[in-house]
Amino acid sequence: MPIYEYACGFCGSRFERLRPRSSMDDEAACPECDGESRRALSVFSAMSSNGDGEVSRIAGGGGCGGCGPGGCACSMSV
Ligand SMILES: [Zn+2]
Repeated sequence: MPIYEYACGFCGSRFERLRPRSSMDDEAACPECDGESRRALSVFSAMSSNGDGEVSRIAGGGGCGGCGPGGCACSMSV
């Protein structure tokens, strides 16, 4: 169930309620003063963190291709 935010029209307190989507616009009782509270429009951050970019790097640079990654031994030992 999604969480909705409600704001009390009497005391101004804000609280959250878990409720089904079908009754998200129903009034909720304020936990402070028991007054009826309307759903507050909460700002949803539309950021989707999908940082799954695969970074493939060619290690070394200047290797001979015959040596392992991390250093070319044959060009170093000249
Ligand atoms: Zn209240």
